[in-house]
Amino acid sequence: MGSIIFCGACGTVTGSAYFLETGGKRILIDCGLYQEKDYEKINSNFLFDPKKIDYVILTHAHLDHSGRLLELVRDGFKGEILTTEPTVDLLEIVLADRLHLEPKLGPKSLVKKVLKLCWAFEYDQIFDIPGGIHFRLKDAGHILGAANVEIWCEGKKFVFSGDIGRPGTPIIRDPSPIKEADYIIMESTYGGRKHPPFSLAKKQLKAIIEKAREEHARIFIPSFAIGRTQELIYFLNDLVESGEIKPLPVIVDSPMALKVTKIYAKYTNLYDEEALARLAKGDQIFSFPLLFAAASVEASCRIEQIKPPYLIIAGSGMVTGGRIIEHLKRHLSSRRSYVVFVGYQAKGTPGREILLRKPRVFLDHMPVENRAKIFRIEAFSAHADHQELLSWLKNFEKEPKRVFLTHGEPGARSVLLKDIRQNLGFTVEAPRLGRKVTF
Ligand SMILES: [Zn+2]
Repeated sequence: MGSIIFCGACGTVTGSAYFLETGGKRILIDCGLYQEKDYEKINSNFLFDPKKIDYVILTHAHLDHSGRLLELVRDGFKGEILTTEPTVDLLEIVLADRLHLEPKLGPKSLVKKVLKLCWAFEYDQIFDIPGGIHFRLKDAGHILGAANVEIWCEGKKFVFSGDIGRPGTPIIRDPSPIKEADYIIMESTYGGRKHPPFSLAKKQLKAIIEKAREEHARIFIPSFAIGRTQELIYFLNDLVESGEIKPLPVIVDSPMALKVTKIYAKYTNLYDEEALARLAKGDQIFSFPLLFAAASVEASCRIEQIKPPYLIIAGSGMVTGGRIIEHLKRHLSSRRSYVVFVGYQAKGTPGREILLRKPRVFLDHMPVENRAKIFRIEAFSAHADHQELLSWLKNFEKEPKRVFLTHGEPGARSVLLKDIRQNLGFTVEAPRLGRKVTF
């Protein structure tokens, strides 16, 4: 007999954690941080005893899937963390950043302690763990190193989707199909939503840059460090090197994004055909004329001396912190500033307020007039939309026994649930937090 307890991401899009007990082993799939306000309490209270977990299988390095590894190890976890090699590299950056922002969590050495427990595995190969358990990691096409996890034990097969990426995502490969499972635990972030194709993002970016050049404007792009920043650099590289736009100064003003870009540059073996073709032609995909890196604070301050037009990519993605704050404090009140949103802006964040064109927003507790031109490029998304989620499920050749939808707000989750039930005829449910299912 085996069981799963749903320990997170039930009716929310953060806090992913699933406790699987099978073959006499206790396996946690993901150990993510809750980032929704009402759920913060849960972060310090696990629904299980960390000391008793044998393995963590980690789908990817995003904080909402990996962040609570710090608490897990602090609270006595001594097992092994199984994931891909790029995820281990990214994990170091992500966890160090979290610890830097929340020093109360523990000493800096806590990150090293987590990393020491990590073991890296290739995609597409089946590995054994004691207890007659086998697992395989499949490319999820979401961010570099992200995986869907297949687990076989006691004659049953489980698939944990982690986050499912989109076909056509730049740089990385498309999600790799999985063909069979008895039980599927699947994300539903964008149930009921449709994303424009990625190619549109490049077109919009080009139009915004051309307009900025005419108006001698400054372009500010608040961006997440992992994935989004590299996609932006990739598209800008393409626009500049193909001659579609004249080069303008592009500054990546985020130490974290710069570190992540180095990791993206390292794993060329995981690129898609298009990125590989560029490399084969001798193009460095993260390097083009007038691209600058601002690693130090001094370098960041020197940006002020550059004559517009220019483009700054800086964190954080929702303007809740990071170097984008200083830039916007100085320039949000100017009509010749462009703010371009390329990611989700959660309720209550300064990013959302700017996007909603509130005439005055608070940055670092300081009121700032918002007169900038605001743009939004919706085509950037690391998550499959409704139809793409359905297509992912259609890869399964035999009907699974049960599908559990997680990692979605209640509305999105129920729209997807209905569609799966009606159109695919699968047995599908939306578990609540703490629900235990036995097999
Ligand atoms: Zn993710």
